[in-house]
Amino acid sequence: MSPQTPTEQQLQFDQEHIWHPYTSMTSPLPVYPVVSASGVRLTLADGRELIDGMASWWSAIHGYNHPVLNQAITEQLSRMSHVMFGGITHQPAIELAETLISITADNLQHVFFADSGSVGVEVALKMAIQYWHAQDKTSKSKMLTVRNGYHGDTFGAMAVTDPEGSMHSLYKDILPKHFFADAPNCWRNDNREIAHNATQLHKVLEQHHDEIAAIILEPIVQGAGGMRIYCPEYLQAVRAYCDEYDVLLILDEIATGFGRTGKLFGYEHADIQADILVVGKALTGGYMTLAATLCSSKVAHGISQNQGVLMHGPTFMANPLACSVANANLALLLNADWQSNIQRIEHMLRKKLSVCGTLPMVKDVRVIGAIGIIEMQHPVDMESIQREFVNAGIWVRPFGKLVYMMPPYIISDNDLTTLCTSIIKVITQQSPS
Ligand SMILES: *Cc1c(COP(=O)(O)O)cnc(C)c1O
Repeated sequence: MSPQTPTEQQLQFDQEHIWHPYTSMTSPLPVYPVVSASGVRLTLADGRELIDGMASWWSAIHGYNHPVLNQAITEQLSRMSHVMFGGITHQPAIELAETLISITADNLQHVFFADSGSVGVEVALKMAIQYWHAQDKTSKSKMLTVRNGYHGDTFGAMAVTDPEGSMHSLYKDILPKHFFADAPNCWRNDNREIAHNATQLHKVLEQHHDEIAAIILEPIVQGAGGMRIYCPEYLQAVRAYCDEYDVLLILDEIATGFGRTGKLFGYEHADIQADILVVGKALTGGYMTLAATLCSSKVAHGISQNQGVLMHGPTFMANPLACSVANANLALLLNADWQSNIQRIEHMLRKKLSVCGTLPMVKDVRVIGAIGIIEMQHPVDMESIQREFVNAGIWVRPFGKLVYMMPPYIISDNDLTTLCTSIIKVITQQSPS
C-alpha cells in the first residue's frame, strides 16, 4: 500500500476549507498529517512516530490497527457493510445488545443503537420525556444536571452541557432551559463538600421535581467539561434523591465506560443503577462511530404503553460494520484481565505524575484508572504546546488549563513512562503562575 501522504497543496486546502473540531476557519491552528497508526503509535507524514496519549478521545482502547478488530470488520465487510434497521435485524446487532445487557446493571434490559454519543444522549433525553408523557405527567419535561458537565454538541445534548463551556448565551433563545446545580466538588472525599453539593441539588429537586423528567450526569469523572473526578457518595445521594422525588437517572458513560476509570462502568464505584445509560466512544475500540442507549423495563414499558413508540431512527442505526467491530472489541476487553491492566496504568500514572504537584505552573494533579490529569495555573497556548509535545514524540491534546491523557490500555510501562516524562518536561517550560 502506498502511504497516504498529503501534498503541500492538499494541506493548504485543508487549512482553507476544512473545519477541524472547535477551530476557526480564518485562523485555524496547525494540524499534523497522520499516515498510519499501529499499537500506541501514530506515524506522521514526515516519518516521525508519536506515542499516543489520547486513544483518539477515549476510544482506541486496544490501540490502532489491531489484528483482531481488523479481521472482524473485514469479515463483516465481505458479508454486508450496511442494511437499514427498520423492519430488518442482523446477528451483529443482536449479539452486541446481548453483551451490553449482560455487562451492565441487571435492571437495564433494552438497547437503542445510535450513531454517535451526542445522538445517544438525545435518545436518552427523549426516552425520559416520553416516559413521563406516557404517564400523563407532561409537566415533567426538563432536565436537572450539574455544572461542568459535557454531553455532546447537538442541541439537546448542548442544553445539558456546562452553560459556559458550550456557550449557552449564544443560543439562549433556541436552547431548552434546564436546571443546573453546582458541580460535584468532592473527589478528595471531604464530607462537608459532599453534603453541601448534594443539598444544593436536593433543593432544586424539592422545588422543581414536578417539572423534572430526569437528572443527567457523567458518573465519577466529568470529562470534556473540566476533567473533574468526584466521589461515589455524591452519586449515591443523587440516586436516593431520584427515588425520593420520582425523577429518572440518566448516566452518560460515553467517556467513562468500558474500564477507563478502573471499573467496567463508572457507576460501579457507587454501586448504583441508572434508569437510562448511554455508552459510546470506546464501544467500537475507536474503529467506527456507534453509541447505545440502554434503559430499564420500567422506562421501556412505560414509553410503549398505549401503543407508544420511541420516536427515533437514524439512517445508519446499528450499522453492521460498527456492531461487528464492537463485538470483537468487547470480547478482547472482557476476555483479558483488564482490571489489573488498568490498575497497572493507574499505579504508573500516580507514580510518574506525583512530581508535577510541586511545580509552580501546576495547580492540581488527578489520577483515576487510566486517566491522568494535570491542571495548570493558566490556560496553555495550544499551538506552541502541541508543537512541543510533537517534538518530544508524544500525542497529547490539551484544552484550556488541562493537560490530560487517557492512553490506549495496551500501552507498555516504557511508553507510559516516556509519555509522562515528556509531558512533564514540556509543561515545566511553561511560565509559572
Ligand atoms: C464525547 C462525549 C459525548 C459526545 O459523543 P460524540 O460521539 O462526540 O457525539 C457525550 N458525552 C460524553 C460524556 C462524552 O465524553
